[in-house]
Amino acid sequence: MPLPSDLPVVDHHCHLSPDGEGVAAARRFRAAGGTHLFLATQNYDPSPPTTLAAYERQFTTTTALAEAVERDAGVHAYPVLAPYPVDLLHQIDALGTGPAVELHTAALDLAGRWIEEGRAVALGEVGRPHFPVAEDRVEAVDGVFRHALEVARDVGCPAVLHTEDLDAAGFQRIAALAVETQFPLSRLVKHYHRTDVPPEALQGIVPSHLARREIVSRVLGTPGPWFLETDFLDDPKRPGAVLDIATVPRRAAAVALLGVEAANRLRIPFESSIEKVYGVRPRVVPDGGR
Ligand SMILES: [Zn+2]
Repeated sequence: MPLPSDLPVVDHHCHLSPDGEGVAAARRFRAAGGTHLFLATQNYDPSPPTTLAAYERQFTTTTALAEAVERDAGVHAYPVLAPYPVDLLHQIDALGTGPAVELHTAALDLAGRWIEEGRAVALGEVGRPHFPVAEDRVEAVDGVFRHALEVARDVGCPAVLHTEDLDAAGFQRIAALAVETQFPLSRLVKHYHRTDVPPEALQGIVPSHLARREIVSRVLGTPGPWFLETDFLDDPKRPGAVLDIATVPRRAAAVALLGVEAANRLRIPFESSIEKVYGVRPRVVPDGGR
């Protein structure tokens, strides 16, 4: 049984690089049945930015890639912009804590302005390093995390979280931080979610599940909103570090084989959740190809 012809097939979090496979990866995504992807920015240079101008170049690269993907691969790409949370640690090493926090904060503000101008759909990845940080850096890390939520709140856009793997207690801590900054939990997305926590433990935070076979079968019957993602890195030096970009369409095709009811469950990650969290509705143009 093929996928319903009007069903978009969406990778909710991936990266592409001008030095990697780039648009060709998006073509493979499309050939596998993909129609839309959320393109998160990343560092394209060997070391993280230490100036605001470098972040501006980075965001320009991401949005240009999104346009190229649309034009040359026929895949709609939603850009997601923010300074990567781990950058802060490098910036503290390079600049000292004060200037590093200042730069990171300014880069979050810049991303916020680009989202306001419609050049991206969400602030991400924001949060904190996925590994423990030295005691004397915790305050700086928490400060920029809080600032990120404030920017997304003021812009009125979703925030895509990069954090350590979260269990029920972890979701509770993040939810408390969001409540403290008056950021709506319904627009808070945990990217790269792979732990098995019951839906009620999410505190209203939206999970973007890593599209591994066993995770997809575990979450397919759960209530929305939720997403599927690969976190494809497009880094030729790290092949297989994350899932391949063709994974979400392949999983969708496998789900469709289970029958109409299962295929329709995919409307949660590919349609209704995107509409709920991002306020946009991905559409498949008739004969848009799959
Ligand atoms: Zn990512």
